[in-house]
Amino acid sequence: MFNKLTIEDIEVSGKRVLVRCDFNVPLDENGNITDENRIVGALPTIKYLVDKGAKVILCSHMGKPKGEPVPSLSLAPVAKSLSEKLGKEVIFAADDNVVGENAKKAVSEMKDGDVVLLENTRYRKEETKNEDSFSKELASLADVFVDDAFGTAHRAHCSNVGVTKYVKTCACGYLIKKEIDFLGNAVNNPVRPLVAILGGSKVSSKISVINNLLEKVDTLIIGGGMAYTFMAAKGLGVGNSLLEKDYINYAKEMMEKAQAKGVKLLIPVDTVAAKEFSNDAETKITENGIEDGWQGLDIGPKTTELFSDAVKDAKTVVWNGPMGVFEMPNFAKGTNAIAKVLADLDATTIIGGGDSVAAVNQAGLGDKMSHISTGGGASLEFLEGKDLPGIAAINDK
Ligand code: AMP
Repeated sequence: MFNKLTIEDIEVSGKRVLVRCDFNVPLDENGNITDENRIVGALPTIKYLVDKGAKVILCSHMGKPKGEPVPSLSLAPVAKSLSEKLGKEVIFAADDNVVGENAKKAVSEMKDGDVVLLENTRYRKEETKNEDSFSKELASLADVFVDDAFGTAHRAHCSNVGVTKYVKTCACGYLIKKEIDFLGNAVNNPVRPLVAILGGSKVSSKISVINNLLEKVDTLIIGGGMAYTFMAAKGLGVGNSLLEKDYINYAKEMMEKAQAKGVKLLIPVDTVAAKEFSNDAETKITENGIEDGWQGLDIGPKTTELFSDAVKDAKTVVWNGPMGVFEMPNFAKGTNAIAKVLADLDATTIIGGGDSVAAVNQAGLGDKMSHISTGGGASLEFLEGKDLPGIAAINDK
């Protein structure tokens, strides 16, 4: 049950509403935005507030300016893009100290329905340390605070957590609500069978995710580079594949835990092995382990079939991490096949951010999934069962 205040629960008309967005968009060398998805994702909340006659003050970080003004990481291009998409002027407050003379003047002159965008919050060194001084300055601009930046919800910074100490009413926007609705239901109240698919490079970065998901899922599928540590734990050879020796025992424990809990845990039964880490490398399909001199770079055809079969009756699927080195076309087949299977399922399909999102989009199947998370790190921490500070800071209903 989602029990946090949302923008629809609070009075916003005529109020100064500070909205923490995620405008951390990629720019090319000329400062042009190369992917506007995050800006588009923020529009429903902004439009709602504008329509309600709020004075909408937007803030966000972009990149890592490390606490000082870096002109190439200015949010000016975002203001331009937003103005076009909203069909109204978004006033950009170009202050190197974010809450400076320009911001104060612009906010003081706002009429109901106006929109102001502040400069990159990470121009201030206090931001990532969640220091009170900057939190208070941000709060001084607002009557109400709305957090809609799921991508930073796993961090406690001034602009998403600190500021809530100094603003009485703190609610979430549509984007955060959607993330929590999907991820929260999938993990805590799923329509079963629930299947999780984990991949990517390392077991070590997903230890807590594996451990937590084993408490929740009916089936856990492990592919990608992390599968070789599980194969080694089964006593199979892995050749020159990615292997985290220090985690072999952990992988054994997880397989035992799965068995004790009655969770089906699947790992690859065959592998596309390559002579070297290159798209043009000589390859072969291997079963029962991988010989020395070869490295696994994708799941094999039998594994693709095994994994596809395991999800076909699922009603909820959560996927985080590619099945192979999907950046190289010759090793993207397993990942693409899984993406295709999910796209055709009659189930709630949730893609957990980061590389899996890139893989699904690369396969052109983004719009076939029920939900694509906007936060890689945040969704991973959510799947670990952690409380996200950015969500915890929002007022309960
Ligand atoms: P992560 O950030 O942990 O989700 O890992 C994503 C990365 O894992 C991608 O860049 C993939 O290329 C990489 N990856 C997936 N499978 C393998 C593999 N078999 N060997 C090496 N890297 C892999």
